[in-house]
Amino acid sequence: MIRINENYLKLQASYLFSEIARRISAFQEAHPDREIIKLGIGDVTRALPPSCIEAFHRAVDEMAEDSTFRGYGPEQGYPFLRNKIATEDFQARGADIGEDEIFISDGAKCDTGNIQEIFATDIRIAIPDPVYPVYLDTNVMAGRTGEFHNGRYESIVYLESTGANEFIPDLPRKPVDLIYLCFPNNPTGATITKDRLQSWVDFARENRSLILYDAAYEAFIRDDSLPRTIYEIEGAREVAIEFRSFSKTAGFTGIRCAYTVVPKNCVAYDGNGAKHSVHALWNRRHSTKFNGVSYPVQRAAEAVYSKAGRTQVRDRINYYLKNAGLVRQKIAALGFECVGGEDSPYIWIDGRTNSWEFFDMLLQKAGVVCTPGAGFGRCGENFIRISAFNSFENVQKAMARIKIALKE
Ligand code: PLP
Repeated sequence: MIRINENYLKLQASYLFSEIARRISAFQEAHPDREIIKLGIGDVTRALPPSCIEAFHRAVDEMAEDSTFRGYGPEQGYPFLRNKIATEDFQARGADIGEDEIFISDGAKCDTGNIQEIFATDIRIAIPDPVYPVYLDTNVMAGRTGEFHNGRYESIVYLESTGANEFIPDLPRKPVDLIYLCFPNNPTGATITKDRLQSWVDFARENRSLILYDAAYEAFIRDDSLPRTIYEIEGAREVAIEFRSFSKTAGFTGIRCAYTVVPKNCVAYDGNGAKHSVHALWNRRHSTKFNGVSYPVQRAAEAVYSKAGRTQVRDRINYYLKNAGLVRQKIAALGFECVGGEDSPYIWIDGRTNSWEFFDMLLQKAGVVCTPGAGFGRCGENFIRISAFNSFENVQKAMARIKIALKE
């Protein structure tokens, strides 16, 4: 009799986006003539930069000739891309990262989800609340949690992000082994300063823990004083793994390309206290279970670093940031407190009422879809997330409708 991994039974139904979809279709059925504007989605809406498209086409053409055709590539990624990443994203910012510490993959979702596999099941884990759900669910699947009660899994140390700590979690009061952090944050849009990030790195060094730093939204940072990578922080090479993605940076959500940085100094311990290289473990895992991102996709990603590619990427992100700025300004003018939207595509709004009620009110009265904060964790209750991924015209229209709706 084949038995299941019963940890899967502990998972909560992924209720958030299916429930949103259900409420939208019910609304559409009841009001077929009303136009809906979706500001709930975390997916980009603008086309790929032309430089990426050109490089993509050229690489596809190479596949059409025996002389230039490529089969399996290196599992860790082609040197042309790893080298660009190491020099442009890290060394140019004074962060000492080598190309052999970069692992190209098909998504930060897979990498942030898979990384836990190389660590023991009985380690102590700290996970933000509210949170991008992948970190939590993959640890539930692996059996690192107990049951779910009152919105929380047993055995997880929750790092609460609230107005009281300006949405940057406080250091845990007791030692933990694996720490998930995400900045600029999804869902709150909050960013972390170098000093605050330094305190996390120091904590990890003191406790021999490891930080998993998700920087999928790094490209949205415009404030030069903020760290663009955790490796700008002293000592981070010993205790941090960083996840990056071309998804939100360059519109690769449907193309799939990302990377993970595992410095060679990072160590973890076996049951006898002996040190092991995390880089070697991840390399083993990656090359055993993954066969590389396709060649044309890696060429398209390389084009992000060309002169024209950079300008095109920056223009796209500026476009979303202009949307985010408008949302912030209009929401603040209506008397709501919010965070994010300055160095991030998300605006986290204190709706001062149950998240789902606020969601329903915006849908019914304004025809605008947001994401209820409660879907990201207990600390998300009373908040909603608005995303800047839409056209400027739609964002303008949505904000005008929200203004009327809230005044009714
Ligand atoms: N990390 C965070 C915080 C995200 O919000 C997302 C996507 O929404 C991802 C990772 C996934 O990125 P990718 O498209 O590279 O899998």
